[in-house]
This record gives sequence, structure tokens and C-alpha cells, in this order.
Amino acid sequence: MSQFWSQVVHTLTPYVPGEQPKLQNLVKLNTNENPYGPSPKVIAALQREAADTLRLYPDPNSSHLKAAIAEYHGLQANQVFVGNGSDEVLAHVFQALLKHELPLLYPDITYSFYPVYCGLYGIQYQTVPLNASFEIAIDDYLRPNGGIIFPNPNAPTGIPLALSEIERLLQANTQSVVVVDEAYVDFGTESAVSLIAQYPHLLVTHTYSKSRSLAGLRVGYAVGNALLIEALMRVKDSFNSYPIDRFAEAGAIAALEDEAYFQQTRQQVIATRSILVAELQDMGFEVLPSGANFIFARHPAHAGEQLASGLREQAIIVRHFKKPARIADFLRITVGDEMQNQALITAIRSII
Ligand code: PMP
Repeated sequence: MSQFWSQVVHTLTPYVPGEQPKLQNLVKLNTNENPYGPSPKVIAALQREAADTLRLYPDPNSSHLKAAIAEYHGLQANQVFVGNGSDEVLAHVFQALLKHELPLLYPDITYSFYPVYCGLYGIQYQTVPLNASFEIAIDDYLRPNGGIIFPNPNAPTGIPLALSEIERLLQANTQSVVVVDEAYVDFGTESAVSLIAQYPHLLVTHTYSKSRSLAGLRVGYAVGNALLIEALMRVKDSFNSYPIDRFAEAGAIAALEDEAYFQQTRQQVIATRSILVAELQDMGFEVLPSGANFIFARHPAHAGEQLASGLREQAIIVRHFKKPARIADFLRITVGDEMQNQALITAIRSII
């Protein structure tokens, strides 16, 4: 019997998230959070929510948030699905839209949650290698498939894919759903949301965790054709009739309303990224082109793992992936604020 249970447990492969250290005063550049806090209007909205309505159940349809997201993107409310972070939204996407006879396709170097969902939901998949420049090559996806998913910009490489390439894929691949995971799109990558009206088989996911600085609130959403959204709703209704809580809905609406703060902080991240890239290149690093709030870089003379542990000794944490071997020399570094950036540069200079 115990062998039976051991087998059951070991067939489930959980997602292993980046470390959330307990120590104070670390320069935390390992999980792509936003270095700037959320909009002050979000804090005010959360305080109002706490004072006025916390005793009441949330709206099971999150209708105010869906309306706000629809308006923001020029869509209808029935084209919006919301969930507890885009990880949960993606869980529903995998279950509702990506399980077919033919394999799901996604890049071989990408968000490491995708294989976990495939394992959990029994979805067969094939990975498609990135090209020699670590880019997603659309031609390699033009084969029979049961769905396609990739982040844009890709993670952990940060490399953006041009909208024209996504459109080319949508035109050539009409028999399955194409999911573009735009977790980091606001940091200088073109969004595919503008293609939704033309392509009913396109679904785009977004998160409030990065450009809206609300990782702790857990809000994400998907936008697409109303029929795709209907499929997601059917999965959701089977599990949890309250998608997100009152804080999450109120905070997310307030964040969307403060466009000026959003623009200012995302531009700040983009500007700091340019400085970081230039400084790293100056020290001999190869830095992949980034359309995200992180960069992916390697040094020809210093192994990624050693650099990561050297930084850690100086209380700076960045992300290092041991596998696959092709990226084992890279570090994924979140773009922090100017002070964090400076601390990082100083520490790297002392190591190399
Ligand atoms: N997609 C990608 C590519 C990510 O890197 C992340 C963050 N780990 C997510 C989705 C999920 O983000 P969240 O659940 O915070 O919305």
C-alpha cells in the first residue's frame, strides 16, 4: 500500500517558484517583482474596502473589474476572465483549451509552469527549441498541434517577439488556440490584444503582479473571443464560485484607473534596464535583448552559478537555472530601482 501512495505522489511534479527569503535587507532581484510600490490610489482603495465592505461576500462575477479591463483594452466584458494571479488563469486555460489529441506546443526554454500544468492535467506536449539566438522561431510552430502557448516577451530570456510574427502564426495556425502569456508585456513589448478582434482563436493572459506592482494581491486575467472565455468560465465554475476577493477586485480596478502612475513606473523600469544593460555589457556580459522587467545575461569567464552564489554572499539574490544546460551560464536579474541596481553592479564588479 505505501508503495502505491508513493507512486501516486511522485507522479505529480509541482512548480518550484523562485525563493521568497525571510531575511530582511536583501536586494531581491530573483522573482521579477516591481521595485516601486503600487499606486497610492490602490492603497486608498484597499483601505476603503477594509472599512466598508469586508463583511460581505465578493461579487462572484467580478463584474466591475471585468468591465474596467474590457474598457481598458477596448473589448466587451464577456471577453474577459479574471483569476487569482495569471498562474490560476493559466491553470484554467490549460484545462479548458489545451487538452487535445494532438500535442500542445511551447518553447523548450520558457516559463517552467507549463510542463507542470501538462503533468497535472494529463496534457501531451512537444517542446519547440528556441533558435541559436534564443528566439522563438514561428516557422517551427507551423505543424499539426493541439494548441500553442508562449510568453511574450519569453521568460526567462526576456526576448520579445514582434506582433507581425504572432499575426503570421495566427494566420497559418487556425485549427487550435494560440495563447500569448503577456505577463511582462508592459515593459516594452508589443501586445497581441489588438489582434483579438480579428482572430477568434487568440487568447492573451495578463497579470497585475509585474507592471502594476501587485504580486501580493494575486490578480491576473485572460482576454479573447467570448467563446474562449465561456470555456474558461465552465472550468472555473466547477471549482470556485468566488474567483477573486474584495481586496483583489478593488485594488485591481484602482490600479487600472491610475494610468499616470502606471506609465511613470514602467518607464522608470525601462530606463533603469537600459542603464543595467549598458553597465553589464561594459563588464563583458552578453545580455539578451529584453522587453521585460528582467534581463538574461552571461559572462564569458564566470559561471552563472558562481556569480549567483557570490552575489548571495553580498545579500543580493538573482535567479540561476541549472537546467537546461544551454542556459546554465545565464543569470536572470530583475530590474530593481536605481539603488538596487547600483548595489548589484558594485557587487558584480567586486566578484569578477
Ligand atoms: N507567466 C509568466 C511567464 C511568469 O513569469 C509568471 C510569474 N511567475 C506568471 C505568468 C504568473 O504570474 P502571476 O501568477 O503572479 O500573475
